[in-house]
Amino acid sequence: MAVKKHLSKERTLVMVKPDGVQRGLVGEIIKRHEALGFKLVAMKTVVAKEDHIEAHYTLDPEWRRVTGEKTIAGYKSKGQTPPSEDPFEITDNILKCLKTYMSSGPIVAMVWQGAHVVKMVRKIVGGTEPLTSDVGTIRGDYVMDSYEMSDKDNRSIRNLVHASGSVEESNLEIPHWFDESELIDYKLVSEQILYDVNLDGIME
Ligand code: GDP
Ligand code: MG
Repeated sequence: MAVKKHLSKERTLVMVKPDGVQRGLVGEIIKRHEALGFKLVAMKTVVAKEDHIEAHYTLDPEWRRVTGEKTIAGYKSKGQTPPSEDPFEITDNILKCLKTYMSSGPIVAMVWQGAHVVKMVRKIVGGTEPLTSDVGTIRGDYVMDSYEMSDKDNRSIRNLVHASGSVEESNLEIPHWFDESELIDYKLVSEQILYDVNLDGIME
């Protein structure tokens, strides 16, 4: 039987997108991850090629269909007519816009580690559309973009940050951006208070 990894070993990919870098939000975004007790195991600034961005978004073969269907449902829930009934046609355009957006300037890619890091980071990042993402989240607090605006200008929604949506997604995304040798295994002293079972190292 395979030995299940301790939850504290879970990792996620976070990227500060070009608008986040330009807005001077790298420090604020890092701070929010640190505040939760997560460990930064890799970080780099890169200008990504369009091919690399396309490969990133299509690592999950279902992404095209799921995103297209979600977008069509989104239009209909607002009583609007989607530009197409074909999810793949919709996603083709989303992908084209994402390639322009994500390769427009430097991005900061990071890998964060800790228990439930994928879910917790999605919680602090907030929903995809800043207009409707919760107050207190990164997307909810630092930008006001909307699908109404981005669709009108046929561009990607500027939502500052990417974070893996599931553990399966993070397992595909991390190796897409980082070599194994760039991921640093080390101890963070605060992990003792987060994960140590008996807390028997505190008292003298
Ligand atoms: P995330 O995980 O919250 O970033 O969102 P997704 O993985 O579902 O979508 C990735 C990207 O596709 C988003 O950042 C948007 O740029 C785009 N996208 C997703 N859903 C929609 C939508 O309903 N309409 C439009 N125009 N773009 C979308
Ligand atoms: Mg996603």
